[in-house]
Amino acid sequence: MLDKASLVELLAQPQKIVITTHHKPDGDAMGSSLGLYNYLIQLGHHTKVITPTDYPQFLEWMPGNEEVIIYTENKEEAEKLVAEAKIIFCLDFNALSRINELGGAVGKSTAVKILIDHHLEPEDFDDYRYWNINACATAQLIYTFIADELNHKELINKDVATCLYVGIMTDSASFSLPNTTSAVHRITADLMDAGAVNWHIYDLVYNNSDEKRLRFLGVCLSRHLEVLPEYNTAIITANKQDLEKYGIATGDTEGIVNYALSIKGMRLAAFIVERTDRVKLSLRSKGEFPANEICKKYFSGGGHRNAAGGYSNKSLEDVVNDFKLILPDYKNLLTQ
Ligand code: 5GP
Ligand code: MN
Repeated sequence: MLDKASLVELLAQPQKIVITTHHKPDGDAMGSSLGLYNYLIQLGHHTKVITPTDYPQFLEWMPGNEEVIIYTENKEEAEKLVAEAKIIFCLDFNALSRINELGGAVGKSTAVKILIDHHLEPEDFDDYRYWNINACATAQLIYTFIADELNHKELINKDVATCLYVGIMTDSASFSLPNTTSAVHRITADLMDAGAVNWHIYDLVYNNSDEKRLRFLGVCLSRHLEVLPEYNTAIITANKQDLEKYGIATGDTEGIVNYALSIKGMRLAAFIVERTDRVKLSLRSKGEFPANEICKKYFSGGGHRNAAGGYSNKSLEDVVNDFKLILPDYKNLLTQ
């Protein structure tokens, strides 16, 4: 493990730095990565963001996006950068399996690995850890890492602030989750003072749907929503045929699960989607209900108490049945 003084010393000289984040990056993954990127380039570091896979089009406008390297589209360059890096920042994930094939290269690298994250129980692959499960977003931790840990609040410029705002806004479900503390709002206010334009960022991220996505959502809600009132649980499924018919890419299904949770009285919501390689689950819950426990125990996944995910290699129908069979074990938590 590296201590803080050694980290500060290391960052005092320009270094070759790679920033990486979990596969199928979401708003927090990209916001944290590009926020940190826009900070590090001001210090003269040779910095590259490498994502394990592509990410939704509604995140492609952020400052620095044009410099991002997508591993699956440019493996050779990505591996070269990882091999040459002196420092690798690992953001918004807690296990190398979350970065797919890129995990092999990162695991082998002799670079100093800095983990900044808010997920439970990180695996032991890092040399420096800036980790807090109470943070509403990794982007919140990037803010305090720059402002407090490294004493560089003045380097949080408009580009840094804009990216970090995206991370906090998306991971806190637009400031609606219980971990959106007053401290989060103070940070958000600082980001606005530094140039982040809240309404414009919201518009770019959320009012960016194309017509087919909205029609697909209509199909999900009218034909594939199942409500189980005895468990205060609602499930939305999406099959391969509908995904193909409406030309739905991964990012297009983001947020659909929240419609299931918006039904009065629901404590747990699932969105279960038949992707080409496997069936993916997204769970959202209210209050104390541990959605991450279900994902970890039954669906090779994990996440946060109120937002978690996992997957299965069974058929869509079997996964839905498996999920329903789990609910009786949680009946008390779901109904009392
Ligand atoms: P989503 O439902 O948006 O895909 O994921 C919600 C949260 O669950 C993510 O922020 C991430 O923390 C976690 N998550 C999703 N899928 C997986 C997975 O396959 N493994 C683990 N460990 N966590 C996941
Ligand atoms: Mn996050």
